[in-house]
Amino acid sequence: MNKCIFCEIVKGNAPSMKVYEDEFTLAFMDIAKDVDGHILVIPKVHCENILDCDCEALSKTMETVKKVSNHLTSECGYDGVDILNANGRAAGQTVPHFHMHIIPRQYKDGLGGAGEWPTFPGAKFDIET
Ligand code: 5GP
Ligand code: ZN
Repeated sequence: MNKCIFCEIVKGNAPSMKVYEDEFTLAFMDIAKDVDGHILVIPKVHCENILDCDCEALSKTMETVKKVSNHLTSECGYDGVDILNANGRAAGQTVPHFHMHIIPRQYKDGLGGAGEWPTFPGAKFDIET
């Protein structure tokens, strides 16, 4: 089995620019170079995505997402954050170790209102209310 790159980052066997770390989670800069400030938050324990991740790892990851997001808005001059997460290859996930993307946002930053959301073609069916 191929080594998991994010587990290698947790172990210190692969380089990363860490922005926050605690016993359960790690936040580090994404190497995509798609937008400044793109951060990933992961549980230190390996799970592939939300479908197999245990609830404790999920909630610890979310706590760190909140901590980093609050820091970005209260200390770094950002006005908000987009939180993005793909689960499964069909959903666009490329690294199979659960991770949340944080994209720091500012008014008039030119990124648009919908961040990286996919283009929705419009629903075919009405919902029942
Ligand atoms: P996904 O497409 O699975 O939602 O996101 C995976 C993210 O991991 C991508 O944004 C990609 O740039 C990032 N990534 C892939 N390999 C590495 C790496 O070795 N180091 C860091 N810091 N980010 C990575
Ligand atoms: Zn892993």
